[in-house]
Amino acid sequence: MSQTPTRADFDRYMVPNYAPQKAIPVRGEGSRLWDQEGREYIDFAGGIAVNSLGHCHPVLVEALTAQANRLWHLSNVYTNEPALALARSLVERTFADKVYLCSSGGEANEAALKLARRWAHDHHGEHKHRIVSFAQSFHGRTFFTVSVGGQPKYSAGFGPVPGGIVHGEFNDLDSVRDLIDDDTCAVMVEPMQGEGGIVPATPEFLQGLRDLCDAHDALLIFDEVQTGAGRTGSLFAYQQYGVTPDILTSAKSLGGGFPVGAMLTTDAVAGVFTPGTHGSTYGGNPLASAVALAAVEFIDTPEVLAGVQQRHDLIREHLETINRKHGVFREIRGMGLLIGAEMAPGYAGRAKDILPLALEEGLMALIAGPNVLRLAPSLVIPEADIAEGMARLERAVARLVAAQ
Ligand SMILES: *Cc1c(COP(=O)(O)O)cnc(C)c1O
Repeated sequence: MSQTPTRADFDRYMVPNYAPQKAIPVRGEGSRLWDQEGREYIDFAGGIAVNSLGHCHPVLVEALTAQANRLWHLSNVYTNEPALALARSLVERTFADKVYLCSSGGEANEAALKLARRWAHDHHGEHKHRIVSFAQSFHGRTFFTVSVGGQPKYSAGFGPVPGGIVHGEFNDLDSVRDLIDDDTCAVMVEPMQGEGGIVPATPEFLQGLRDLCDAHDALLIFDEVQTGAGRTGSLFAYQQYGVTPDILTSAKSLGGGFPVGAMLTTDAVAGVFTPGTHGSTYGGNPLASAVALAAVEFIDTPEVLAGVQQRHDLIREHLETINRKHGVFREIRGMGLLIGAEMAPGYAGRAKDILPLALEEGLMALIAGPNVLRLAPSLVIPEADIAEGMARLERAVARLVAAQ
């Protein structure tokens, strides 16, 4: 019972829906991690765009431990100070009038989709229930969100999918014009597709969606689960685009590693979620809310947000230097600290082959689909860690090229 767990225990005891790497990290500090053997890694993965302030940031540790000594959980029969403070902070910093708190991105999106359906139902009638989403989009793994997502491999094999969902082409307004009509209740879109390959929307596309939604009295939902909470260099990406949604979802970086999600919306829309229409046991949990509040207040400052852009430029320069030497990338793209490097034709589908090599060199990275290397480090990663991480990445890339 008291034996130290090993990687073999994963295969023995865990449902096999993941295939984790061999090393088991046991400790983290800033943008460095150490595994069971004491090997050190630089973290360019950030827990998949979650660890917005790196590991064990003192501000988040302080918020968590202070709350841990005060109050852990109440249920929604009562409200609590951290949840109210977080909601107020998000409202004051965004377009939103109202906030719904939950524990993950999928839950935030589930709430957003149900809210849109309920709003249309109550204001227009049963017929107005169609949802427009996009090919390659990703919105979570609940059955509704995975059906709205545009990657059939994730929703296939689970029986009949919910009806009334159609998919257009990302960054192609004409494809939306063909799909949207007065029976459409919502358009859901990521301002930059994350899992779909780090593909930023064009400003014209998002503005065009806003106009089409207005023309058809449909709600525009921005899924900012991956792009939000400072990741792109503004608190939320919509602020950079200057296009305001009716509903916005956030999670991942919002909690800096503590499970939390939020759905933001306007008074006009929120009103249909009357008591009893929707809920979640852990939504607004005091621990989660205290950490998220500390994260938002730390991130949403000119210094931290400007630092995201500076680090973006630095990482891009490093990737371009690596590419000039090795020619493995076709395009380097992204916003802020969500950066994708698409593989060159000679390395098509090989992005995942970089990950174990990088790990051997002491670097954690990510992919976004088979063809894109994805980097989502801490928003405050030190420049020295970027330089060292890039040196390790270059060694991994050189090994990929040598083995070609
Ligand atoms: C990760 C992600 C989700 C799902 O979030 P979970 O916390 O895993 O439920 C939804 N939408 C986008 C854009 C994401 O990147």
